[in-house]
Parts: sequence; structure tokens; C-alpha cells
Amino acid sequence: MPELELALLRRSLGDIAGMTEHCDACHRALLIGERVYEYENGQLRCALCRDHERQPPAHSRTVHTAAHGHSIRRLDRRPVRRAA
Ligand SMILES: [Zn+2]
Repeated sequence: MPELELALLRRSLGDIAGMTEHCDACHRALLIGERVYEYENGQLRCALCRDHERQPPAHSRTVHTAAHGHSIRRLDRRPVRRAA
């Protein structure tokens, strides 16, 4: 059933696109691991568009997946022993 497959694919891509952050200037989807700059008004800028802003960003951070902080949590906080 290719129509069902296409419908499921479109829906999943729409879900992914809805979770992805975008640069508010060029509207490009920000890549995981990319540096993003946040401004006082809540706008986001990618590294390329940041150079066109007059004001400095409030802060910057790395783009994570939507599952960041929810997928894997380290429960054991003991130091890792390494073989000598
Ligand atoms: Zn941009």
C-alpha cells in the first residue's frame, strides 16, 4: 500500500519538522550540535545570521534533539574506574 506508506512518512516528517528549532532570520532548520544564539526578545539566530545582528546575544547554546534529557539518564554518579 504505497499511499498508506506515503501518508505515514509525511506525518512522521511533519512531526519531526515541528520539533526542530529554526533560525528566525533565515528560517533554516538548525542542525543537532550546531551553535544557536538566543536574544533578549526570544529570537534565535544561527551562526551565519548572528553576524547581521546589531545587539549581542543574551546567550548561546548547542542544539540538541527533542529527546535530550529524556532519553538516557545516568543514574550511577560514581566516578568511572579506568584500567591502569
Ligand atoms: Zn540563520
